[in-house]
Amino acid sequence: MCRLLVISNILILLVGITIASAANAEWERAEYTTMGTNILVEVYHQDAQTRKQGIEAVIAEMERINSLMSTYIPNSKLSILNKDAYKQDVMVSQEIFDLLTISRQVSRLTKGAFDITYESVGYLYSFPEQVIPTEEQITKKLKAVNYELVKLNADKLSIRFLHPDVKINLGGIAKGYAVDQSIEILVNLGFEHALVTAGGDTRLLGDRLGKPWIVGIRDPRNKDKQAVLLPLNNTAMSTSGDYERYFEEGGVRHHHIISPTTGKSSYGVQSVSIIGPESVYNDALSTAVFVLGLQEGLGLINALDSFEAIVMDENRKLHYSNGLTQ
Ligand code: ADP
Ligand code: MG
Repeated sequence: MCRLLVISNILILLVGITIASAANAEWERAEYTTMGTNILVEVYHQDAQTRKQGIEAVIAEMERINSLMSTYIPNSKLSILNKDAYKQDVMVSQEIFDLLTISRQVSRLTKGAFDITYESVGYLYSFPEQVIPTEEQITKKLKAVNYELVKLNADKLSIRFLHPDVKINLGGIAKGYAVDQSIEILVNLGFEHALVTAGGDTRLLGDRLGKPWIVGIRDPRNKDKQAVLLPLNNTAMSTSGDYERYFEEGGVRHHHIISPTTGKSSYGVQSVSIIGPESVYNDALSTAVFVLGLQEGLGLINALDSFEAIVMDENRKLHYSNGLTQ
């Protein structure tokens, strides 16, 4: 339990860090919104011009990825795939091809719990407008929820969908990817200490000058409270929760993490956090473990090297993967 003990010491640490950051003019912090989510960038550098350049480069990268991968933008590559890839091969960039390849890899690893073709049903949901599909619609569209229906042709760098109803959405992986890209850009600009967060996906470069970064897991039922605080360095953590996009109707909470088996919101846990070196995998795995549920999800993470998990179940009890408790 030694690492968990560290967790309970963090509150004390946190006070010191807040003061340190206020007194240290070489840190810079920026918050903004893109991809329908909040972005936070914090960088350390001696040179003010470089700090500004780093933050601007991260913002530009987030915008670039959003314009390629958003399903809300009619001419994004993702929208073009969803429109045309059943009728013809659609050529894509190496970047999109690679992200679709990683998505398939995670789908296979998680027995389809993570599946970008959830969108074949998922597009019928609108959480802001409180719209859910009928049973009939779900049954029909579920036939197109299967990652094997997305054919990846590595020689031609092209994509083909094998069923007319297939749609894909990278909402469960693109933010993690964008965070990794941002950290890489910062490294190339010479940064050694930085934090980039996009929604629930955080990656840390280095530490906070001899102190750890403190990363929180939100209380799923109180947005102003943290359920867990973790001291982390040079790693990444992603959280998936049933609170990001949801509405309640007749005592049922309809939210944005969809089980590819049922075509409905996934129940059993309230929040899943994955700690691992790269946000792209953490992001996809946090969604997958949410769908797999407590036992199967933690079992998967315990079988993988380099990943840890913190799961809050439906009774708000926290569960930890083996590496965090031994
Ligand atoms: P957040 O977007 O709040 O950070 P997640 O990382 O869990 O949370 O991503 C949830 C998003 O993933 C949904 O909004 C949707 O776009 C997508 N998604 C939902 N269910 C699945 C699934 N089973 N497999 C892959 N992606 C999914
Ligand atoms: Mg995710």
